[in-house]
Amino acid sequence: MKFAHELKQSLATQGFPPHWVAHAIPYGQLKKCLKKVQRELQELGLDAETLRALLDPKTDSPVALNYSLNPSSNSQIVRPKLTVEIHLHDGNIVDASLTPATRQFFEKISSKLPLDGSDAAKESKPADSTPTETVEEATPAPSQALTIANRAGKGYDTIEVPLVSDGVFFDILQNDVSSLDALQATERDQLKEEVKDLGKQVSHVARPGRFSKSDLDRWRRIFELYLDAEVFFATHERDHGARSSQKALQQLQWFQNQVQKQELVKSFKRPESRAAFSKFLELNLNLLKHLQFQELNLLAITKILKKFDKRTALGVSRAFPSAISSRKLLSGDIAKEVCARISDELVSIIPQVNDYLCPICYAIAYQPVRLDCQHVFCIRCSVKLQRRHEEYCPLCRARVVMDASAKNIDSELEKFMRKNFPAEVKEKERADQIERGIEEFGPSYKPAECAVM
Ligand SMILES: [Zn+2]
Ligand SMILES: [Zn+2]
Repeated sequence: MKFAHELKQSLATQGFPPHWVAHAIPYGQLKKCLKKVQRELQELGLDAETLRALLDPKTDSPVALNYSLNPSSNSQIVRPKLTVEIHLHDGNIVDASLTPATRQFFEKISSKLPLDGSDAAKESKPADSTPTETVEEATPAPSQALTIANRAGKGYDTIEVPLVSDGVFFDILQNDVSSLDALQATERDQLKEEVKDLGKQVSHVARPGRFSKSDLDRWRRIFELYLDAEVFFATHERDHGARSSQKALQQLQWFQNQVQKQELVKSFKRPESRAAFSKFLELNLNLLKHLQFQELNLLAITKILKKFDKRTALGVSRAFPSAISSRKLLSGDIAKEVCARISDELVSIIPQVNDYLCPICYAIAYQPVRLDCQHVFCIRCSVKLQRRHEEYCPLCRARVVMDASAKNIDSELEKFMRKNFPAEVKEKERADQIERGIEEFGPSYKPAECAVM
């Protein structure tokens, strides 16, 4: 299937909102424009093969072509520029290796004749016209005729070849990239707002201990699973970085399956939790849609630039992305920003036990002993450090361990842990009790079972 057709179909069937589709890369239009670019160059005798030969820095031909896509000095707008450096003798070039067409081209240039685009010279491009509308009807005029800078004494001239359709092509492309950027910025801000609202909802239904009905545990489990899923970003070294939309979809499905398997939504105690969870999923799906749309547009850009290069050998596949490297579309930052917001405003609402582990025994740091260096360890590990006369904090090597006493127990943190991690605290208390029992009564110590709750 032809890509133009594929693109059209994807845009129509993947459920993108119509106002997104209106902003998609106008691949068909660019393709038509590319035909004009090609024709224009061919009329100058510059077919792809000739261009490739003349642009090759290794050839020692007396003429050298240089093509660049530079943002013009006073704006961010990328302008294509084709210049020729040509050795002249009395206005004539003498080089037998040139093809007749190319020779004709250079002879035209060197004699300073207006080139074939004389009809185009009649119109001048209105400053406020959007290139998207003008490409079909009007061909904007070359801004000037040939610019010839004769560098006296150096034996060669530098000539700028007017490129009309080429300019139009990049106007269309840039215009669209900018409007995609703008669209993305709007949508990103909206998603961030939604995350914030959802954060409020979740913190309401997951407030610990106030009433018997709290969904704290379930939300904690949900966010643990969500973090494990690494839907949009991988932090593991093997596949570090942003995910493709396909992979993100897979991860999101895994997350949904796990939530379902563990019956987390089913067991919500408060109906608002269910609504909040649906919203959370919806938000992720929206972000995924963005990723898909972005990928589609990037693919369209890549394809059209490749086609451009195939027909002109001008090397824009590499030059264009780097000329507009500051643009957001190409940096894919929407997922990054929204995900950061999800972790700041949503996940962090629910304390995760991983943030409260003792760095020595990896259980919850209960009861928490805060050394004078501010590092926190569980009371068992603190006691054991002192018994071994290890004077230095294992994390920062400050000499604070022997100074610790009952006053170092962080009672605020202790309260917080009891409230937010009741199960982990209970388990840790039990483990400590066994350990102390064994220390006191020997390895055959068995804790009293069936402690009254
Ligand atoms: Zn510990
Ligand atoms: Zn320390």
